[in-house]
Amino acid sequence: MAEAWLGAGRGVGTLAYIKVGTGIGAGLIVNGTLLRGANGFAGEIGHTAIDSSGPPCACGLRGCLQSMVGSATVLERTRALVRSGRVSSVMHQDPMTLTGVAMAAAEGDPVAIEVVEACGHHLGLAIANLFNLLNPSLVLLGGGLTAAGEQLLRPLREAISARTLWASLTQAEVRISALGPQATALGAATLVLQAALADPRMFSRNQSTPPA
Ligand SMILES: [Zn+2]
Repeated sequence: MAEAWLGAGRGVGTLAYIKVGTGIGAGLIVNGTLLRGANGFAGEIGHTAIDSSGPPCACGLRGCLQSMVGSATVLERTRALVRSGRVSSVMHQDPMTLTGVAMAAAEGDPVAIEVVEACGHHLGLAIANLFNLLNPSLVLLGGGLTAAGEQLLRPLREAISARTLWASLTQAEVRISALGPQATALGAATLVLQAALADPRMFSRNQSTPPA
């Protein structure tokens, strides 16, 4: 909602915002309306299946995107590569963080790049499914992993190109959100504003006056 009202999504009818952090979730706006789903759970892209024989996910399912790209997996994979003898600048991070690994990738650290590229590939598979299903014209990415910049976007775009119907990719764009860490708070604020604009009595002083 923050992107749709204040960011790169202004004037875009159908878009998705995907946050890649501890977990992975998506906000979906279809023809200008936030898609909530029957029970308010639309957008759980982190729990879409990427590999039917993949690792178990915290949700109880198997091979979910989150089990392959979430921060716990990123840190575990990075530590495993370092333990195997690979030299990396992330060895000096205390504590090691998702954003730290992503930034190391952006700075050219080979271990961090290897981990981030795998994430980009898996994320790209999920986004390809999203393109085929919803046909958004814009997909914005946020969260700690996006600090990797092009190191994340390159494999992600390759996976999308290889798995998306050509017609769904025409005039479509995948970008990193420019709203940064404030995006979540801004999005929450737009929901309050939307409710207030839908019912202007919320602005009325009489609302705080108890009935006589
Ligand atoms: Zn899951």
